[in-house]
Amino acid sequence: MDFLKTLREKIGEQGPPLSSRDAVNQAMIRHWCDAMEDDHPVYTDPEWAARSQHGEIVAPPAMLNAWTMQGLRPPAPSAGVTSDPASEVYEALDRAGFTSVVATNSEHEYDRYLRLGDLISGTSHLTEVSEEKATGLGVGHFVTTETDFRDQHGDPVGRMLFRILKFRPGTGRTSSLADASSAQAGERPSRPAPAISRDTRFFWEGLENGELRIQRCEGCAELFHPPVVRCPVCGGYAMGWQAATGRAQLYSFVAPEYPHFAAFDPGYIVGLVELEEGTRLLTNIVDVDPDEVKVGMGLELVVRSDNSDQPLPMFRPVRPERRKETPRLETLKVGERLEACPIPITTTSIVATAMASRDYQDVHHDRELAQHRGSPDIFMNILTTSGICARYVTDWGGPDVMLKRLAIRLGVPNYPGDTMTMKGCVEAIRGRQVELSVSGRNRVGPHVTGEVQLEWPKDGDRTAPLADPSTQ
Ligand code: ZN
Repeated sequence: MDFLKTLREKIGEQGPPLSSRDAVNQAMIRHWCDAMEDDHPVYTDPEWAARSQHGEIVAPPAMLNAWTMQGLRPPAPSAGVTSDPASEVYEALDRAGFTSVVATNSEHEYDRYLRLGDLISGTSHLTEVSEEKATGLGVGHFVTTETDFRDQHGDPVGRMLFRILKFRPGTGRTSSLADASSAQAGERPSRPAPAISRDTRFFWEGLENGELRIQRCEGCAELFHPPVVRCPVCGGYAMGWQAATGRAQLYSFVAPEYPHFAAFDPGYIVGLVELEEGTRLLTNIVDVDPDEVKVGMGLELVVRSDNSDQPLPMFRPVRPERRKETPRLETLKVGERLEACPIPITTTSIVATAMASRDYQDVHHDRELAQHRGSPDIFMNILTTSGICARYVTDWGGPDVMLKRLAIRLGVPNYPGDTMTMKGCVEAIRGRQVELSVSGRNRVGPHVTGEVQLEWPKDGDRTAPLADPSTQ
């Protein structure tokens, strides 16, 4: 208890203002947008931005705390500067063996969007240190800080509540998710293997190379699936193939609930998929809940070996298109759902987004060190999750909505190879303020749940209607 008392002595204390090393600048914004795959033109296109309500380039709001991140080589504290109470608590926890860290909550409020040249500083105070808690990751303490961000004139631009868990590595309920899933896999029958004949071998060999092949008659160029021995159109026997683009639409689907087959995860979806080449394929629709699936939805190919020795062609929803125009407020309805958006997670995307947010914690870029800390692999940082949530809702809202608040809680980590599928729903509309719930789920469970507030533009604040440069 004495230990906790010492930790809590710093509650309410304020640290020194932390200034950004660089003014808000186009290079960091571009780096962030590339890493987050956020194409909103107001962040990078000066001509488009000039016609918008902002009148100039602005920074993605979710970058708020990226500006004051200290980077790879934090400057040495100058003499006479008071120490930061949160850092002192983190160091005390490190010394007591709570050496691993994971961010669990981030709540942003934005007073205004930042402009090129703004110089941001943040002042933090420690607001809470939890008693020791046993979590899935390990035994540890939650530490909460609040930060006020101001510009070069001392005017407030936003604030953040941030919570991390400092925990003892190796004290979690399972030592790693990888162990848990491999233990599960051992007891489970694998998917039925396909019967491969001389006439169908090309199809299965293509999948080994990540390619979906469609049989094509060499005589008349008709396409067939499933493969045939002889062309029913021209009667020829010379059958070749061509690789599908992987773009498709859902023709029909069913989500069987009974009976259960041990080789298939419950809630699986069987879809009849129409390839853009015209042939249809019976397959699984993945990375989406059955209640988000609609006939006619756009799909893309993913080749996976889910519980099978044989790579199989499956399909998932395509990323919803970014709206080029913000719809009128009157057209929105409480209960309206945003289209599901699967986001493939790779080592590259985790590292690129960590660097773009100036987060050099080893668990976001160094696999060996991450494993040393008890994680099966590197994992996505919380600023990236914020950035992805922000992108998802502003892609939906269109170019003229303003993000006012973004509050997220993290659940299971996103590792390389995961796919996180975003979902969202309009929860309330108050005047021009639209409140949404968002969530992102991977195969293990929810990675993020959160609430968002978007402000709809006044009629006079809409961007002057010229063609969106990204579509030209
Ligand atoms: Zn033919």
